[in-house]
Amino acid sequence: MPAAVPSRVLVARAREKIRDQWARIEEIKQVNQARMLEAFRDARVSEHHLGGSTGYGYGDAGRDVLEEVYARVFEAEAALVRPQIASGTHAITACLFGVLRPGDTLLSISGPPYDTLRKVIGPEGACAPSDSGSLAAFGIGYKEVPLDRDGGLDLEGIKRAVGNPDVRMVLLQRSRGYSLRPAIGISQISEAAKLVKSHAPQAVFFVDNCYGEFVETLEPPAVGVDLIAGSLIKNPGGALAPGGGYIAGRSRLVEMAAGRVIAPGIGRGVGPTLGLVRPLLHGVFTAPHVVGEALLGAVIAAAVFEDLGFEVAPRYDDPRADVIQVIVLGSQERVLAFCTGIQRASPVDSHVNPRPGPVPGYEDLVVMAAGCFIQGSSIELSADAPLRPPFAVYLQGGVCKEHVELGIISVVDELAAGNLI
Ligand SMILES: *Cc1c(COP(=O)(O)O)cnc(C)c1O
Repeated sequence: MPAAVPSRVLVARAREKIRDQWARIEEIKQVNQARMLEAFRDARVSEHHLGGSTGYGYGDAGRDVLEEVYARVFEAEAALVRPQIASGTHAITACLFGVLRPGDTLLSISGPPYDTLRKVIGPEGACAPSDSGSLAAFGIGYKEVPLDRDGGLDLEGIKRAVGNPDVRMVLLQRSRGYSLRPAIGISQISEAAKLVKSHAPQAVFFVDNCYGEFVETLEPPAVGVDLIAGSLIKNPGGALAPGGGYIAGRSRLVEMAAGRVIAPGIGRGVGPTLGLVRPLLHGVFTAPHVVGEALLGAVIAAAVFEDLGFEVAPRYDDPRADVIQVIVLGSQERVLAFCTGIQRASPVDSHVNPRPGPVPGYEDLVVMAAGCFIQGSSIELSADAPLRPPFAVYLQGGVCKEHVELGIISVVDELAAGNLI
C-alpha cells in the first residue's frame, strides 16, 4: 500500500473516486451563486458604493449596501458586517453580551463550544473572577446538552433543558471546531429551531456559523434561527476580505449586538468602512465558488488519507456541513510533517517551518500552517492542530482545488520522506 504509491497517483485515484461528491458540490455552488447574484441585484449594488468612508462613517451607503447583501443572502432581516469586528470570536461575543442579561442562562445544545468561547462564557458557578469580564462574572449562567453518541443533536435532552424559563439564549455551533464530532447540517438545525420555538418561545436561537457558510444551499436564518455570526477571514470573505466579522438575524437582535460592538444608543450608525467595501463585496460575491473549491479539496484529501490508512472525518462520501477535513495522524511527528507539507505548498512564506506555539484563547499549544495572503485566513489553504491526542490535523480552505491538491501532494511527500507512512 502506502508510501510506495507516488503522491500524484494517490491524488489522481482520489479524483476518480469522488466523482459523485464533485457533481453534488458543483450543484451547491451553482445554487448559492445564483442566490448571491440575486442579492446583489436586489440591493442595487452600484459603482459608487465601492469607495467607503472614514472617521465615524456616518451615512456610509457602501456599508449599508454591503449589509443588505449579507442580510439578503442569509435570508435574515438585518446584518452587521464590519471591519471593526476583529474576529469570529468577537462577533459571537457581541451577540452573547448583546442579548444576555444577569440572571439569564445560555444553553449550548451542541456540547462544549469552540475553544476561544470558553473564557468568554467563564467558569460555572460563583467562582468567576469579576475582572475576567466573562458572562459568568456578570451573573449569566451556562448549561450544556452534550451531543449524542453519533455526534448528532440530542433532541430529547434539548427538549428537557430548554424548558427552564431562565434559558434566554440557545447556542448551536454548526462546525466541528477542534473536535472529531461531525458538523451539524441545516436539516438538524431546522429541527432544533422548531423544537426551541415550541418549547422555549422566550429564547433566542443563536448559531455560531463559522466555517458553515455556503456549504449547503440554505443558511440558518432560512430555517428559523434568530441570530448568526461568523468571521470574514473564513468562508464569507471569499479569501478577499482582509479581516472583519458579521452578525445577521432578526433586526432587533442585530441592533442589540451592534450596541455591544459600537456603543448602546449608537448601534449601527457608526463604523467607517475605510476603503474595504470593494474587497468585502467582491469577497462575498465569490464566496460560494471559493467555498466549493475548498470543499472539493477537502473531499480529495479525505479520499487520499483514507487510502493511506488514516482515520478521516468526514469520510469522502459523508455529507458535509463545514469546510473542515480532519485527519487523525496519531503522533506529534506526523502532525508537524503534515503542517510542514502544507506550508511548503503555500504561496507566501513557503520557506518557513511551522512550529507549535501558544495562541491567545487556546489551552493547548497549536501548530499552524498558513502561508496566506491574509494573516490567519483559513479559507485560504491552511492546516492547524492543537497538540493533544489523538493528534488530529484540521485541514481547510484553498481558493482553488488545484492548490489543495498540490498541498496534499506536498504533505504525502513530506510524510514519506520522514518514513512516517
Ligand atoms: C474559527 C471559529 C470561531 C472563532 O473565530 P475566530 O475568528 O478565530 O475568532 C468560533 N467558532 C468556530 C466553530 C470556529 O471555527
